[in-house]
Amino acid sequence: MDKKVRVRFAPSPTGYLHVGGLRTALYDFLFTKKNGGTFVLKIEDTDQKRYVEGAVENLIKSLDWAGIKWDEGVFTDVKTKEDKTEVASSKTYPSILEVGEYGPYVQSEKLDVYKKYAEKLVKDGNAYYCFCSLERLEELRKTQAANKQAPMYDQCCLKLSENEIKKKLAEKIPYVIRMKIKKGEILETNDAVRGKVRFNTDFLDDQIILKSDGYPTYHLASVIDDHEMKITHVIRGEEWLPSLPKHMLLYKYFGWETPKFAHLPLLVNPDRTKLSKRQGDVAVEDYANKGYLKEAIINFVALLGWNPGEGSTQEIFSMEELIKKFDLSKVHKAGAVFDIKKLDWINGQYIKKMNINDLYAEALPFLKRKEFFKKAAEYRRTEEYIKKVLVIEKDRLTKLADVGEENRFFFEDVSYEKELLRWKKMSDKDLQKSLKTSKDALEKIPNDGWTLENLEKSLLEVVGERRGDLLWPLRVALTGAQKSPSPFEVAWVLGKDQALKRITFAIKML
Ligand code: GLU
Repeated sequence: MDKKVRVRFAPSPTGYLHVGGLRTALYDFLFTKKNGGTFVLKIEDTDQKRYVEGAVENLIKSLDWAGIKWDEGVFTDVKTKEDKTEVASSKTYPSILEVGEYGPYVQSEKLDVYKKYAEKLVKDGNAYYCFCSLERLEELRKTQAANKQAPMYDQCCLKLSENEIKKKLAEKIPYVIRMKIKKGEILETNDAVRGKVRFNTDFLDDQIILKSDGYPTYHLASVIDDHEMKITHVIRGEEWLPSLPKHMLLYKYFGWETPKFAHLPLLVNPDRTKLSKRQGDVAVEDYANKGYLKEAIINFVALLGWNPGEGSTQEIFSMEELIKKFDLSKVHKAGAVFDIKKLDWINGQYIKKMNINDLYAEALPFLKRKEFFKKAAEYRRTEEYIKKVLVIEKDRLTKLADVGEENRFFFEDVSYEKELLRWKKMSDKDLQKSLKTSKDALEKIPNDGWTLENLEKSLLEVVGERRGDLLWPLRVALTGAQKSPSPFEVAWVLGKDQALKRITFAIKML
């Protein structure tokens, strides 16, 4: 029988969750769920220079927000203690809890483990001490660059005798440990996404695996963790593909079984350049702050490199559907285009489907940040009023942060040039007459009958042959805008008093 599936997400605490990281975490999660496995969240913090205060907590918060759940590893709080084997406080991050029997789940807490394994590699002849100074390495790099050679360590310290090594260690000369790479070998494996991948060891550098400060590098730590945590599938971004041969060699040196690898396609901008911070937002929280719904972000991110195939044109997927349909073998190899227009469209689809109470709850915080809303008259800030605005805007909205933006006249008093009221070649007199007709019709509607249907019915009863003659001046009187929802909709939101006031104001202007 196959081993139980165990998958890990291994972010580095650099401050925020990158959308690419979210995609990896999502695919990890979907694959694990689909296969009834265990999902582990571990923290790769061996590069202390990159650490940002609060970053681990922030990662957990973003994953939680997105609805991605894990079973083991680091948590900020543990709700289901009963079925967890062990709960410990993280030594590095006091607010973090570690749950599971294969911890620590934070790399900086297991330096002794990595060191032990690095020394074992040295003992077995698969790694060696390197005492080269930074100056020497810099010289070497320069010479190689001048000779148009790829930068590569020249294995100088591999020639040291045992006595020389002992002496240098006794003299406390700083050292690193490097992997010994036998050249002229071909390494081959089957990547779940990329198919057969082959590497020639001639192009591999004798990678540093333990740094002079005693910290392991990513390669060593990653392989040891994955082995100790019994990880069966390593699903990660394509940027890690060049690391794969080094990892394969480490597994071989240790005599460990290699997990199955899957390298996910790069995220690219529509112009095919690598998605980077310079071109726009890359942090998941930036998208949340702009008013994208988490369901829409998940849906969008799921499609960055995957679709169910078989001629399916489905674009909207709930998390449950994704779990059912996700298949690693259907992940594409080619770069996945991060098209913000598609995200807008997907978000719009989700907003359309929301009921008004939920939409109100989600949109209110965004509205509250807007100056035009803060300054609005009190009755325009009531739940009832805002919900009416939302009913009208809902179908056209792409982001929660856009509520009211295009239709400020719902919140502000209007001011506009008289000319805007003019429809075709109508004279001032005709315009006045037209507005009066509308006003009379609206005045007849009782306050408690002020519904969209009644408004539409009453106005259409008095509309002449040319609808524009009545509806254009009315719409402008109500909105002061060139473009807006229909006058029926606007009048309905504004309420009888305000609608009549605006029409009277327009009549006076003429
Ligand atoms: N720590 C790496 C990252 O930040 C993870 C690489 C891996 O999954 O092996 O993306």
